[in-house]
Amino acid sequence: MSLFSAVELAPRDPILGLNEAFNADTRPTKVNLGVGVYTNEEGKIPLLRAVREAEKARVDQALPRGYLPIEGIAAYDAAVQKLLLGDASPLIAAGRVVTAQALGGTGALKIGADFLKRVNPNAKVAISDPSWENHRALFESAGFEVVAYPYYDAQTHGVNFDAMLGALNSYAAGTVIVLHACCHNPTGVDLSEAQWQQIVEVVKARQLVPFLDIAYQGFGDGIDSDAAAVRLFAAAELNVFVSSSFSKSFSLYGERVGALSIITDSKDEAVRVLSQLKRVIRTNYSNPPTHGGAIVATVLGTPALRTMWEQELGEMRDRIRAMRGGLVERLKSAGVTRDFSFVNAQRGMFSYSGLNSAQVDRLREEFGIYAVGTGRICVAALNTRNIDVVASAVAHVLK
Ligand code: PLP
Repeated sequence: MSLFSAVELAPRDPILGLNEAFNADTRPTKVNLGVGVYTNEEGKIPLLRAVREAEKARVDQALPRGYLPIEGIAAYDAAVQKLLLGDASPLIAAGRVVTAQALGGTGALKIGADFLKRVNPNAKVAISDPSWENHRALFESAGFEVVAYPYYDAQTHGVNFDAMLGALNSYAAGTVIVLHACCHNPTGVDLSEAQWQQIVEVVKARQLVPFLDIAYQGFGDGIDSDAAAVRLFAAAELNVFVSSSFSKSFSLYGERVGALSIITDSKDEAVRVLSQLKRVIRTNYSNPPTHGGAIVATVLGTPALRTMWEQELGEMRDRIRAMRGGLVERLKSAGVTRDFSFVNAQRGMFSYSGLNSAQVDRLREEFGIYAVGTGRICVAALNTRNIDVVASAVAHVLK
């Protein structure tokens, strides 16, 4: 008998499964609005010019391929801290921020979860309802019980803020609260700055542990404004966890570039926290890969490349906004009476479109337009070539 004879087939990842179905679809007008990837006007994942320049310079240097330190490239970690907290952050100056390069945002969440499990093994973890589907799985696999706090209100296409606050107020001290710092995935619906301030106050008063996930910095309103929530928590003198991802903002999905940052109370505490975090990393994958981190560090640390990157990031942000506006407009002119203007108010790559699963099925079956069953569409996959097809198909299934 094989060791594996009782191993059950795991369920397919719903979004990757959608991808496979899309690839097998032979209709030339098919459109994939399922995956969370930014594609440009040509429907391609861009290779940013700033990244290309940094890569060229790096290849020319023909550097040896030694191991990185366990916490990654020092210049990278320092650059991440400044992106999150601003160049003039007193916390950075005081040496109170710990940052470790990680394998994308996912890797950052995983090492953060493993570290938290050592610090506070009995804590519960609360994620938003709904949330990025991997949040629950990641924290559960680290051994935590995961609950969900109310977030999205389908009636208003906004946040059910009172219910969210109510849930936070009901949690025991030490509960880890996972928050999307900007561009909420999957809904596209963010909190206002005033609401964030209230969340900070509750988190502080109830002694909850904030874990901010920032996977779309620069895709909402801009690099600094998208970090506003992180900075509010930092200003409140809380011990904050932040997982950063550069998969989207540098279009470096496959290079696995992210970071975990933790704000501590003192420099001494930071040294101790980093030493434990390094143990977590060492027993997971020893140390991070070089290429993506080196490229991001070079771009962020070279003024001309940084300017180029900010411009390219701005172009991606503006293009997504234009697609939001374009979709709303086209739906209206196709005779759709339902008000879709909420799509313009959403931030980041996604939109909870309000389409139900039957309508999503019809989009796929009748038109080859692939969206997630919840009605989540990736607005960043729209372009001027496919937006008309998408809008008329959506109008059709809404009739
Ligand atoms: N967190 C959120 C909210 C995300 O949407 C994603 C990616 O889709 C991640 C984390 C993971 O990012 P990465 O691909 O860098 O692991």
